[in-house]
Amino acid sequence: MRRISVFGATGSVGQNTLDLVEPGAVDVVALTGGGNVAQLARDAIRFGAEVAVTAHDDRLDDLRAALAGSGVEAAAGEAALAEAADRPADWVMSAIVGAAGLVPGLRALRHGSTLALANKESLVCAGPLLMAVAARHGARILPVDSEHSAVFQALAGEDPASVEKVVITASGGGLRDVPLDALRDATPEQAGTHPNWNMGQRITIDSASMFNKAMELIETKEFFGFAPDKIEAIIHPQSLIHALVQFNDGALMAHLGAPDMRHAIGYALNWPARAPLPVARLDLAEVARLDFRAPDLERFPALDLAQVVMDRGGLSGAVFNAAKEAALDLFIDRRIRFTDMAVLVKRVLDRLEGQGCLDADTLTLDMVLQTDALARRTAHALAPDLT
Ligand code: NDP
Repeated sequence: MRRISVFGATGSVGQNTLDLVEPGAVDVVALTGGGNVAQLARDAIRFGAEVAVTAHDDRLDDLRAALAGSGVEAAAGEAALAEAADRPADWVMSAIVGAAGLVPGLRALRHGSTLALANKESLVCAGPLLMAVAARHGARILPVDSEHSAVFQALAGEDPASVEKVVITASGGGLRDVPLDALRDATPEQAGTHPNWNMGQRITIDSASMFNKAMELIETKEFFGFAPDKIEAIIHPQSLIHALVQFNDGALMAHLGAPDMRHAIGYALNWPARAPLPVARLDLAEVARLDFRAPDLERFPALDLAQVVMDRGGLSGAVFNAAKEAALDLFIDRRIRFTDMAVLVKRVLDRLEGQGCLDADTLTLDMVLQTDALARRTAHALAPDLT
C-alpha cells in the first residue's frame, strides 16, 4: 500500500490534504502538528498513523494522553520532526508554515520520497539546495501552491525553452480596496481576512501585503528555473485563473478552477493521473467576466523586493524569508504597522548586503539556517527605529 506522511497536518493545507485521503486506503506513516494536539491526536487515531509528532516539546504529555491506548507513537520537538521525515514514505506533504518546514522536507527528499511542497518558505530560503538534494536522490518535488500547480499543469508536455513568460495571479488580498493612506493603520484582523481563499492566518496577512505573491515569484524562479524577467504577477480579483504561461507562438495557456486548495493538493496526490475531486466546478456563464489589473507597486512594495531577491540570488532569499517572517510576527504582535513590514524587510536586506552576508555560490543547510537566524536578529534590532 502507498505510504504517506503529512507535515503540518493540523493546518489549513494539512486538513485539506487529509480530507482527500480515505482512512485505510493508504498507510499513514507520520502526521505532525504544532499546538493543536487534540486535532493531531484525533487524525492520527482516525488514520492509524505510525507516529504523531508535535513541534512543541512541552505538549508531549498532552499528546501522549490523547493517544493513550491507540497504538500510535507520540513524539515532540524538532529532532522528532526530522526523525519522522526519515521514515520511509512514498509521498510526503510539506505543509508546515515557515522556515521550520525546510529540514523535514530536505530529509524526506534524501530518502527519495515524492515531496508535495506547499511550504513555500523552503523554496524561497533554500531553493537551489532543495532542488539539488531532490536531483541527487532521484526524488520528485510536486508544487502544491495553486499558482505553481497551475504553471506545472500548463507546462505538461511543453518545452520550457519555448516559454516567453509566466504570469501568476494575485487576488490583491483583504486590503486591496482600502485607500493607500489608510493602509498604514490596517490591523492584523483586517489583513487576516481574505476575499476568496480560506487559509491560515499568516498566509492570509501575507496576501494582503503581497508578500505572499513576492514569495511566489521567487518560488517560480527556483522551481521552474525561469529567468526573473520572464516572471510576473497580475491582479485578478476573482482568483479563478491561478496562472498563465505564454509560449513563443503567442499562445497563452491559463489554468482555471474554483479557489479551493484541494485542486492543487489532489493533483499532487494523484499525479501523474487525474482523479475525481470533490471541488466546485466553474459555471463560466455565471462567472461571466474575468478582471485583471497591473499591481500598484506603491501599494505592494513587496513585489519590488521579490525582483531584488530574484536578481541577487545567493542567500538573499534566506534573508528575505526570515526578515519577512520576523516582520509578520512583529505586525501580529502590534509592534510595527502594516506598511512597516516591507520597510523592515528592505532594511534587513540592505544591512546584510552591506555586510557581505548575501554572497554564496553553493547553498548549504548550515549557511541557510545561520543566515535565517541572523536576518531575524537584524529585523528585531532594526524594528524599534520604525515607530
Ligand atoms: P497553517 O498555519 O494553517 O498550518 C501550519 C501547520 O504547521 C500547522 O499544522 C501547525 O501546527 C504547524 N506548525 C506551526 N508552526 C510550526 C513549527 N514551528 N514547527 C512545526 N510545525 C509547525 O498554515 P497553512 O496550512 O495555511 O500553510 C502551510 C504552508 O502552506 C505555508 O508555507 C503556506 O505558505 C503554504 N500554503 C498555504 C496555502 C493555503 O491555502 N493555506 C496555499 C498555498 C501555500 P498547529 O496548527 O497545530 O500549531
